[in-house]
Amino acid sequence: MLFIIFGTRVRHSVIGEGQFYCPKCQAKRAYKHKRASRYFTLYFVPLIPMGKMGEFIECQACGIAFETSVLQLKAPVQPRVTPANLAALINTLPTRLSTGTPVEYLVRDMTAAGLDRQAALDLITPHLTAGRKTCSTCGLSYAAAVSTCAECHQPV
Ligand SMILES: [Zn+2]
Ligand SMILES: [Zn+2]
Repeated sequence: MLFIIFGTRVRHSVIGEGQFYCPKCQAKRAYKHKRASRYFTLYFVPLIPMGKMGEFIECQACGIAFETSVLQLKAPVQPRVTPANLAALINTLPTRLSTGTPVEYLVRDMTAAGLDRQAALDLITPHLTAGRKTCSTCGLSYAAAVSTCAECHQPV
């Protein structure tokens, strides 16, 4: 007796690989660019490709398959700490203070650039010789010359 078994089956072939930003892992990962094809099989042996079913990008870390457009995704930009941008922050301190930037924002920017909080305050304090005032609404503090709160637009 001869049983002829026809069927179809899906095969994945790797058509490329590289590094991409995986939205699931939220990190740079290795990927395989795969193509799925359906094959007509006889006795489970693939015979004839039945056409492309689609291409996808498979993350090698989490195994999730994405549309190929995922390769266009860029990793979110992380603020980079460099001596240059820390120097720029320090140089613009007096200007930013006198134009109404809250002391707390300057501390935040400088700690983000790698300074510890006390070091940041030590750099700001010499520019507050005329005094420091605090917004009674939101609690942010300013150089004495500042008259309006940047956050709540109330007079300080
Ligand atoms: Zn992943
Ligand atoms: Zn305020």
